[in-house]
Amino acid sequence: MVLDEMTSQTPRHPTPTGPLTPESLVPRLGDALVERKLITPGQLEDALQRQGELRQGGRKVLLGRILVEMGAINQETLDRIVTEQILQLRNALEDSNRQLEIRVQLRTQELRSALDRLSELTRLKSNFIANISHELRTPLTHLTGYVDLLSTQDLGPLTPDQAQAVQVMQKAAERLDHLIQDLIQFSLVERGDIQAVLQPVNFLQACSHPVEAAHQKATAKGILFTSMLPEEEIIVLADEEKIEWVISQLLDNAIKFTPPGGMVQLTCRADDTFLHISVSDTGIGIPPGKLEEVFEPFHQLDGSSTRRYGGTGLGLTLAKKIVEAHQGSISIESEPGKGSTFSFSLTIIQNTI
Ligand code: ADP
Repeated sequence: MVLDEMTSQTPRHPTPTGPLTPESLVPRLGDALVERKLITPGQLEDALQRQGELRQGGRKVLLGRILVEMGAINQETLDRIVTEQILQLRNALEDSNRQLEIRVQLRTQELRSALDRLSELTRLKSNFIANISHELRTPLTHLTGYVDLLSTQDLGPLTPDQAQAVQVMQKAAERLDHLIQDLIQFSLVERGDIQAVLQPVNFLQACSHPVEAAHQKATAKGILFTSMLPEEEIIVLADEEKIEWVISQLLDNAIKFTPPGGMVQLTCRADDTFLHISVSDTGIGIPPGKLEEVFEPFHQLDGSSTRRYGGTGLGLTLAKKIVEAHQGSISIESEPGKGSTFSFSLTIIQNTI
């Protein structure tokens, strides 16, 4: 270290953007020498004046050297003071680093406990949803049992008006059961309990029930439903029950959000590795900026549509999680007023052409 380099009287505020000089490392060395009574204020002033004169003459000489040359201080003392100053600065820097570390640790702890609390609340909420759903299911099972007995006239003949009323009750009970099932599934997902048991599944068989149900619902609403399924048997790697649920969910939505006179289509196309499944409709569509939102739990795009179309806003959240548990993802293409297409893929194990 060339200590002499560090002996200049530095400006009070070295410019932070300027080059890093020894002066900027040992600010106000002249003042430090005066404070320790190693030079007098008068000597400092003389030295500064001499430095100014030299600078005007085009020479840059550091203050320390001038003080040594003036005989105000010897080189050894100067070196010692500069070293002390540097050590002081280093200690101050280390101190401030330690303080910073402590503050970071405190903040991290606070965030960690806030996160723990949040996880605990989420767990409680999921448990609550799971419990309440199971509790709701038990009386509903009794209701549907008796309504079924009424509708089959096992409990006695019904007048046409009574039969009509029982049919309405049956439909309402079915909807309620659907909502409760969504809630139970959702609480499982929230608790991380959703596990797809992947095994070979005959795809045509898995979608036969959703296709049949979609035909009935679409026809009842005056919608044309078509399905374009592969003619040959295709075996995919899937959790049959869950994938059946996803297909039903996408078809239900397509029918729900398509007005009478519209069209809904289920298409499956196989390539060498994947079976690509899409559900398209000519319904109300989704605005481009809202495509991600539809996957958020309890999210329905427009409050008025909730009242008009019903639902919990959980269907797509669950469908996404299930497809992800199959190492896939759901994509959406949609145009407001024109319709939507929801697609995902499953891995083919065997294609029996
Ligand atoms: P739910 O249908 O019970 O409201 P979902 O999670 O299935 O819940 O869907 C979330 C929202 O995404 C719906 O409320 C609707 O606003 C929008 N959406 C889903 N499917 C369609 C579709 N095929 N066409 C238009 N909007 C849709």
